[in-house]
Amino acid sequence: MPQKSIEPFAAVTSARTLSKGQEDPGFTAVQDFLLRFGYLRPNTFKANQLDEPTEEGLLRFQRQHGLPTTGVFDNPTRDMMGTHRCGMPDPASAIAFSIGCSWPNPNLTFAFEDGTNDIGGAAEFQAVRNAVATWAAAAPLKFTEVGRNQNPDIAIDWRPANDPDHSMVGGILAHADFPPGCSVITDGLPKPLHFDDSEHQWVVGSVAGGFDVETVALHEFGHLLGLQHSNVAGSVMFPTVSSNFTKRSLTADDLGGVKALYPAGIPTPGTYTIRQKSSNRFLDAHEIAGKDFRLVTRPAQNNDTQRWELASVGAVFAIRQKVNGRFLDAHDSAANDFRLVTRTAQNDASQRWIVVPVGDGSSTLRQLNNLRFMDAHEIEGEDFRLVTRPAQNNNTQRWLLTNVGTNLFTLQQKSNNRFVDAHETSDKDFSVVSRPAQNNDSQRWIFGQVGAVFTVRQKSNGRFVDAHEVSANDFAVVTRPNQNNDTQRWIVMLAGNGSFTIQQLSGGRFVDAYEASDNDFGVVTRTAKNNDSQRWLFDKL
Ligand SMILES: [Zn+2]
Ligand SMILES: [Zn+2]
Repeated sequence: MPQKSIEPFAAVTSARTLSKGQEDPGFTAVQDFLLRFGYLRPNTFKANQLDEPTEEGLLRFQRQHGLPTTGVFDNPTRDMMGTHRCGMPDPASAIAFSIGCSWPNPNLTFAFEDGTNDIGGAAEFQAVRNAVATWAAAAPLKFTEVGRNQNPDIAIDWRPANDPDHSMVGGILAHADFPPGCSVITDGLPKPLHFDDSEHQWVVGSVAGGFDVETVALHEFGHLLGLQHSNVAGSVMFPTVSSNFTKRSLTADDLGGVKALYPAGIPTPGTYTIRQKSSNRFLDAHEIAGKDFRLVTRPAQNNDTQRWELASVGAVFAIRQKVNGRFLDAHDSAANDFRLVTRTAQNDASQRWIVVPVGDGSSTLRQLNNLRFMDAHEIEGEDFRLVTRPAQNNNTQRWLLTNVGTNLFTLQQKSNNRFVDAHETSDKDFSVVSRPAQNNDSQRWIFGQVGAVFTVRQKSNGRFVDAHEVSANDFAVVTRPNQNNDTQRWIVMLAGNGSFTIQQLSGGRFVDAYEASDNDFGVVTRTAKNNDSQRWLFDKL
């Protein structure tokens, strides 16, 4: 049987070089390519002409692929477009790794449909299983293979190029889909991983003219987990791949992406022992005065005074605008008001937002680095400017979160029902405003959980952990009866290697402990020290 092969995107590679303002009938193929992979929007450009929108699309394509940014359809651009590639569109903004939605419960099932006749036996299925195992080793993900009639989350199939759910005709090797909430192929399950079985020769390993199944499967499973295309050459999530080539391990760029999507082990409500990382001593509390029971750390006692019940009162999220994946942020811009913007990922506390339901269906949103409240006020006819302010305890600081997809929400200010939106104002910062409903992705926000807010009760007596000022430096941590306020709410954030920081919601100070006597170490809250004395290990019972 002759080996299957295709010259990828032949109409593009035969189009002639074109600069801004020039026209050529063959250039339509280039514009079709830009449309197909997310670099042009329909009905925004003049066919056959390298006009302004087309130039912008070419520039983005060139940036995404590390080419000279000429805005001209030139030789390097033509050569890159004429490369076998993935069928998924490239992201709207080129950042090192670009993440979309994650699965809320990353315990996924997959099933095989048809294989390919290119490979003997069932070696193509084993190649896909190997790719699955590579991702499972990189993040807290679990995959289980099931039968095709057992409602899998992911269905793997070799299909003709004119695949009904997403055409792969012309040089696309395979396509997948993003998780629920970010899907572009199908809203339901299973999500596809479809290989083009018409135009490409599938092989296991590096074979002239053949494409390694494991290499392509590793890339496509990245999409199924929520990763978009990367602009880092050599990463698994780069959009193009060569024949006679294997890449079967994840790069730092890919690992950064999947770890951002699936942070390891944020504690869920339940009963825990809590140990200080630096001393390995256990949180405990005992009566010292009528009102307050003082928290200490002690060696393990294996009883209920060292067991703590965590109940959920909120969560901490990185919040991204769906239309471009930029992160909600705020920075000091005036004495009272800090302006909200969206920025590319900084991976710091200024891009983390504490969401605590108020009890009337709305929630407050507070920036983690300073605990200021999200608010908005009128500045001009159409847009209300979003800011953070100190607590006002009114409806301008209460927000209605409406779930419009997995991890996907609209945000409305309770006082006026306007929707949070953002638009480009400068290269670095996009301005965040509220507007009337537009029913589009610019008003939809992706919430990625990065922490939790709990009340913490001692199992032996049900009293709540609290802290209050005893000196300028140390606040004593005690237990008290329920007060239902922020002094009894604690923010738990991952601090690396399975340990966590514990911050009091009322002031953001960190739980710490120091040696006070042979038996008991006093537990206090202090400002951030960024060391193991403020890192705690939670062991669920
Ligand atoms: Zn891809
Ligand atoms: Zn398909």
